[in-house]
Amino acid sequence: MAFPIQRLRRLRANPTLRRMVRETKVTPDDLIAPLFVQLGAGVRAPIPSMPGQFRLSPDTATEEARALWQLGIPAVILFGIPEHKDSSGRAAYDPDGPVPTAINAIKSAVPEMCVIADVCACEYTDHGHCGILHGQTVHNDLTLELLKRAAVCYARAGADMVAPSDMMDGRVAAIRQALDEFEYFDTVIMSYAAKFAGAFYGPFRDAADSTPQFGDRRSYQMDIANRREAMREMETDVEEGADIIMVKPALFCLDLIRDARERLNQPICAYNVSSEYSMLKAAGQNGWINEAQLIDETLLSIKRAGADLIITYHAREWAESLLK
Ligand SMILES: [Zn+2]
Repeated sequence: MAFPIQRLRRLRANPTLRRMVRETKVTPDDLIAPLFVQLGAGVRAPIPSMPGQFRLSPDTATEEARALWQLGIPAVILFGIPEHKDSSGRAAYDPDGPVPTAINAIKSAVPEMCVIADVCACEYTDHGHCGILHGQTVHNDLTLELLKRAAVCYARAGADMVAPSDMMDGRVAAIRQALDEFEYFDTVIMSYAAKFAGAFYGPFRDAADSTPQFGDRRSYQMDIANRREAMREMETDVEEGADIIMVKPALFCLDLIRDARERLNQPICAYNVSSEYSMLKAAGQNGWINEAQLIDETLLSIKRAGADLIITYHAREWAESLLK
């Protein structure tokens, strides 16, 4: 059956029909808002390369979390900016550090909110790499010890979920074992399973002050050219016990989100990263694009690719736009 019997435009003829046959919808339920936290009080310091994003203290992060919750957004993911960094990233598992303090504050004020803690060393090491150095390279197995301590520390502070973003081999199994040892059987692991090295995270590194002081992260994060290897990374993390699998960055990896959706039965999360955010913001501020519409289309494309959850800096403004 073909034209003229078939006319695909029939179902696009008016907004009502389009609404009825729309295949993908984004709702606030799908979104996770990233928050950058530091110690102190009353802090709301703008991040220059990420217009609309701020470094927050535990009290202002709690206000932000409450506003997000009221907008229907169920989860936040926390990144810490410590007061002191050292070569072995000890601040990552300091129970009085910014992330445990913020977890505690948010869970006390908005107990139903899902609070996720990013687990990595790069925000806490003076060299800015995602683990413990051995010479000029990151030592995989020594780094696992740090990740285990950090994950347990965040679970103890009340995190519902920990999200390792370091890309060490074996970290999901190591973290699961450590959590279970301390009887955090129900703490969820969302692994950054396929995470790529590249220029995608530039604005984030300004925000978290985590730029590597030498070299790059290509010996542990993936090569953006590799699709099959991404699937191996994801399958490995599933075998090790990851509850949710993440692909990062999102817009550069829509094919991999689709691969994950078709081959895995875990929920799939995608991280709409800082460069994706800042490019839209910069073009929007210049009046070169319809920013609000592009935010809609960005989130919709990631969802259509197969993501169940989207970590996005647009979360709050997008949810607010629904009220207008
Ligand atoms: Zn890292």
